Amino acid sequence: MPQIIIAKDAGACFGVERAISLALDEAHVAPRGIFTMGPVVHNKRVVDALALRGIRQGQLEELPEGSKLVVRAHGVTPHELALATERGLILVDATCPFVKRVQDLAHSLELQGYQVVLVGDAGHAEVEGICGHAPSAVVLGSADEVDGLTISGPIAVIAQTTQSIECVEEVISALQARGFDVEFHNTICAATTKHQAGAIELAAQVDVMLVLGGFHSANTCRLTALCTEINPKTYQLEGPDELDPAWFSGAQSIGITAGASTPQSQLEELQEELEVLLGDAEA
Ligand code: SF4
Repeated sequence: MPQIIIAKDAGACFGVERAISLALDEAHVAPRGIFTMGPVVHNKRVVDALALRGIRQGQLEELPEGSKLVVRAHGVTPHELALATERGLILVDATCPFVKRVQDLAHSLELQGYQVVLVGDAGHAEVEGICGHAPSAVVLGSADEVDGLTISGPIAVIAQTTQSIECVEEVISALQARGFDVEFHNTICAATTKHQAGAIELAAQVDVMLVLGGFHSANTCRLTALCTEINPKTYQLEGPDELDPAWFSGAQSIGITAGASTPQSQLEELQEELEVLLGDAEA
């Protein structure tokens, strides 16, 4: 049977585990309901499990007065916070402290007169939350978007916490090539850096690499992209029922990593199901 190796630092990060735990703690004492704006994490199975405990998704404008609103690890804009307070909602702030730090930094840089450039995925909840704290920030998804940019310096570059450093460095190089003075504040979270490093290291060693996590999870998709560059036999999946025996034909070793929104229990479950699958194939 092929060897199965789990990547270093795979699976749920501190911020996600904290958000889930805070939501569950508060669900016990929420007579008027408990809600999140969007999924608390980009992991359907976690969201379904939370819904069974009464934690549902809702639109800010429609939540009943006196209900609890769990602010997700991604954070929200100051405008949304003000609206929630105005509507009489009870806030449970599960914003990851590392995301909060980026929000505060973006705000402070803008106040100091910098043009903030945020390298991240436009439309992602964390990016929108940060931009809410620095309304004139420009979001760039890649170096290709630097062409045609109409901004003036001084420029301060920050990054979505789950961004890859390679992408940020490419954006900085492209800005410098256009003659901009750039000050870089590395706001990529340490958990992300370790996570990506562990995945890349393992992808280079194994015959097949699996990435477990939601297809809507930016950090999981980024892990998949990084691993695929090194190992074309990389497959992303959301659960063990998606395992395809054809992926492992002739493989001697299989690596597994998981996105920051994937609990350890799901990682262990995948490993167990994979062992059963490979054992059946040998029998
Ligand atoms: S990846 Fe880092 S910044 Fe984002 S939620 Fe997890 S610990 Fe917080």
